[in-house]
Amino acid sequence: MRSRAPPSPTVPPPARRPTLDGMDTPLDRQSLLDGLRRRIPEIDPAEALARQAQGALLIDVRDDGERASGSPAGALGLSRGFLELRIEQAEPDRARPLVTLCGSGVRSLLAAETLQRLGYRDVRSVAGGFERWKAEGLPVAASALDTDAAERYARQLRLPQVGERGQARLAEASVAVLGAGGLGSPAALYLAAAGVGRLSLIDDDRVERSNLHRQVLHADARVGMPKVESARLALQALNPRVRIDAHRERLHAGNVESLLGGHDLVIDGADNFPARYLVAAASRRLGLPMVYGAVERFSGQVGVFDPRRPDSPCYRCLFPEPPAASEAPNCSEAGVLGVLPGIVGLLQATEALKLLLDLGQPLVGRLLLFDALDMHFRELRLPRDPDRPGCGDQAVFDGYADLEQWCRAAG
Ligand SMILES: [Zn+2]
Repeated sequence: MRSRAPPSPTVPPPARRPTLDGMDTPLDRQSLLDGLRRRIPEIDPAEALARQAQGALLIDVRDDGERASGSPAGALGLSRGFLELRIEQAEPDRARPLVTLCGSGVRSLLAAETLQRLGYRDVRSVAGGFERWKAEGLPVAASALDTDAAERYARQLRLPQVGERGQARLAEASVAVLGAGGLGSPAALYLAAAGVGRLSLIDDDRVERSNLHRQVLHADARVGMPKVESARLALQALNPRVRIDAHRERLHAGNVESLLGGHDLVIDGADNFPARYLVAAASRRLGLPMVYGAVERFSGQVGVFDPRRPDSPCYRCLFPEPPAASEAPNCSEAGVLGVLPGIVGLLQATEALKLLLDLGQPLVGRLLLFDALDMHFRELRLPRDPDRPGCGDQAVFDGYADLEQWCRAAG
């Protein structure tokens, strides 16, 4: 039995419309903006750029479609519609100075006001927006960091040597990885994780169970699969943003330039000498840095051959001629401790990231030797040798096919 009658319907009182000034009168567009301008400092694009250089986060609040054709270099792309929901993931530090930018400088005022209410203490808006930024010839990047990227790369974005600008460079970079094996596995995994925009994997092998103790791109369930396909699955699972070009081909005289051309550098993880000599020749002809690594048993070596530098040695300054097969046993004959290619491949990835970001001192003119049993790194000076066949006045190039034949004859 009901003790009470249902409440009689009543007409709700009209909602009081909150306004920015706390008054009850609704605002028109102009008075809303005037009110915002009294509270949000507006700066011109050049000052925004200067603040960005000093560590401020520039947020492009335009929609994804508007940003697709370009955004201020190093800006975070975070659409106005998602600002409140995602800003804390992108930038938890309320003390970091923020600068908002939109198309013409109106939406950025609204965004800045919201950020202030969320507790960000130093927020400014760019007067004139992206239109004025472009008109003043300030740096524009193809596309801005979105919130996925801001979160994914947060720990390296914090490094002033990387930052949004470095991350944008990585996103535009492309690296050829020769061999999806022991060296290519760790190198490709970490380069993909770091956000290198495009990785081209070159390998014609299939995954074998004997690969798995060192070739960490692959998995037991993928034994028998082409290595480049297995690698693509692993890399896309790690970072779906990275474009993976899988070339199930063996590098040879006829495809070396087409496979390696158009990249910023090549990671040499080849398992045979003809491929290494082909890469070395293509590196010089294409002006493409070659990040070399090799392992055997308990030791490894790493070097960078950068043909863009006049002082850099080339691979043939180190090995003028391919060794006889008996002097250069491969992993299947000599054996290798599984961690060795992991260490050497990561040193190669480190050098690759340094080259792409223009950081530190690359391993040019020095050969790094690693001995796992003594746990010892040592460095050999490796100057450019103009008398050797790869560099200098005596250097001749008879074509890739001759080089390949000559290698096979020596091996
Ligand atoms: Zn040389």
